[in-house]
Amino acid sequence: REPSTTHVYFDGQITEADKARPSLWSYSLHYGYGVFEGLRAYDHGGTARIFRLDEHVERLYASARTLGIPLEHDRAALAEAHHEVLRANGLTAGYIRPIVFVGDGLSGLTTRDLDVHVAILAWSWEAGHAVPPPGVRLCVSARRRPPADSFPPHAKATGNYVVSKLAHNEAVARGYDDAVMLDADGHVAEATALNIFAVRGDRLLTPAPHACLPGITRAAVMELAAGAGLDVREAVMDVPALTGADEVFLTSTAAGVRPVWQVEERPIGSGTTGPVTRRLAELYDDLVSR
Ligand code: PMP
Repeated sequence: REPSTTHVYFDGQITEADKARPSLWSYSLHYGYGVFEGLRAYDHGGTARIFRLDEHVERLYASARTLGIPLEHDRAALAEAHHEVLRANGLTAGYIRPIVFVGDGLSGLTTRDLDVHVAILAWSWEAGHAVPPPGVRLCVSARRRPPADSFPPHAKATGNYVVSKLAHNEAVARGYDDAVMLDADGHVAEATALNIFAVRGDRLLTPAPHACLPGITRAAVMELAAGAGLDVREAVMDVPALTGADEVFLTSTAAGVRPVWQVEERPIGSGTTGPVTRRLAELYDDLVSR
C-alpha cells in the first residue's frame, strides 16, 4: 500500500488500512464487476479542497447504476467520507480512490443477496500540473474500446480497464508512453485513461462521449477553453485529425493537461508543447488552486 496511507474508509467506518481486508470470495475480484473514481484534493492554505467532488460522486453513482450495482448509501455521507479519509491520514493534498464492489459469493453470475461494499483510499500526491517536458508519445492501439452496447465506456468500471491495460502493454512494448484507442467504428475515442483533444487554429476538438469516459478534467478544460475564446466542439475524429493537428493534448484528474508530442511516427505540430496546450494547462492549474 501507499506509505502515506494509514487509514481507509470501509463500509461506513474509518479503519486502520492494514485491518481492512476484503474477502477472497468477492464477486468483483473474480468478475471485474465494480466501479470506482479518481479524485484529487489540493492544499488551499493548509486545508484540503477536493476538485469537483460532487461531479465525481455523481459519476460514481451513475457508473453503479449502469452496471446494475445497487449503491444505496446516502450520497451526502459518502461525499463527506472523502474528507474524513483525508483527515484520518493527515492529508491536505492527495489522490482519492473510492471503489464500490460486490461480495461475498461466487455461485454463478447472480449477485442477488450479495452485499455492496464501499471503500475509499487516499494517498499523498502533491505534484502540480505544470507541463514538464517531454510530452507524451502515443501509438494507435490495435485494441478498440468495446462498442457501447457491449460495455458502456461512460461507466468507470473496473472490468473496463482490462482493455486499457492491454492497450497500454502494447504501447510500452512498442516503445511508446501510451496509446490512442479507437472506438468500434474506428474513430478516435481516448487514451487508455485520459481524454484526448486536438487544436486546429482557434478550434478545439474532442470526441463526443459515446465512446469515451466523460472526463471531469475534460469538462473543466472545455469550459476554460471556451472562456479563453476557443471554438470548442465535440467531433467525430479519425487518426489524421490528430496527426494533422497543430497541437494534441490529453486530460485526466491525475495528469491535468498533458501535451502530446508524437502520434505513431508523426510529430504533432512543431513536435513540442504548443501555446494553446500551455495556456490551457496554466488555466487548469489556476482553476484547481483557486
Ligand atoms: N478516460 C478514462 C478511461 C479514464 O480512466 C480517465 C481517468 N478517470 C479519464 C478518461 C479522465 O477522466 P477524469 O478527467 O475524470 O479523470
